[in-house]
Amino acid sequence: MSAKIIDGKAFAATVREKVAGHVSRLKEVHGITPGLAVVLVGEDPASEVYVRNKGKQTLEAGMNSYEHKLPEDTPEADLLALVETLNDDPAVHGILVQLPLPKHIDEEKVINAIAPAKDVDGFHILNVGLLGTGQKAMVPCTPLGCLMMLRDHHGSLSGLNAVVVGRSNIVGKPMAQLLLRDSCTVTIAHSRTKDLAEVCRRADILVAAVGRPEMIPGDWVKPGATVIDVGINRIPAPEKGEGKTRLVGDVEFESAKDVAGAITPVPGGVGPMTIACLLANTVTACCRENNLPEPE
Ligand code: NDP
Repeated sequence: MSAKIIDGKAFAATVREKVAGHVSRLKEVHGITPGLAVVLVGEDPASEVYVRNKGKQTLEAGMNSYEHKLPEDTPEADLLALVETLNDDPAVHGILVQLPLPKHIDEEKVINAIAPAKDVDGFHILNVGLLGTGQKAMVPCTPLGCLMMLRDHHGSLSGLNAVVVGRSNIVGKPMAQLLLRDSCTVTIAHSRTKDLAEVCRRADILVAAVGRPEMIPGDWVKPGATVIDVGINRIPAPEKGEGKTRLVGDVEFESAKDVAGAITPVPGGVGPMTIACLLANTVTACCRENNLPEPE
């Protein structure tokens, strides 16, 4: 039997619709328009596409979007000064500094300079600590999107065996924290994990966040498991013509879909949920700032 394909694109559209509803109530009832500031340093083409999409979707949800594009050679002190200005700007409820930053800038220093209440990426050390101790945090967007899809599919995640492959600060670790918070039994695997195939085969929920094209084949997947593929990898696609490429995940979709109970595709799975959750986090930050009830 073939797995249910979890349609992240459609799910993200419903999240964005809910966000737009909250935004219009905030405007009409309270006269507040949530604002998201996105800072891009340098000219990384992938980052430029992300930033453009974020700005477009922010406006479509009825919020204010503030884009700050700085040259590649911007001194760290100038970037920190801009973050300070945004921290103090009451029209800005969320701040996102697009990563990666140029080599001469200390990413951790910049992330930790963002006011934690405006840290809609959830990477500030305070938010990491709040999430780790089960307190009210800003939650990183990609793992939050994964959790929403898992809850939607399973209802309760309590007692399920979850394996997260990847231990990065932006995906793997916060994903594991969220699954633990929902009472999964969580294993975090990484490049030094012994017998990864066996570890994966124990997973009722398998989250792949590695960055290696189609590394996880179908025979690593437990029959009926839910597979969330975070990986976005561009590989050559000669079948589409010379020099053409296509996107694949970290999971070998064709073999995994015959074993899994449900699976996210790449593209069209986790990716669209990330921006939708960024918009949701901005509304949450705006509500907290104004002591208003938060969207669920
Ligand atoms: P990182 O490179 O920061 O982390 C990769 C993790 O995978 C590391 O923990 C690494 O282990 C582990 N790993 C590498 N090779 C292996 C292996 N052979 N076996 C087991 N584990 C391995 O990546 P990110 O977490 O930033 O991103 C992961 C993927 O998710 C990428 O493809 C990225 O493009 C995608 N992504 C997608 C997003 C979306 O919106 N859909 C958002 C963010 C990321 P170790 O720590 O031991 O080195």
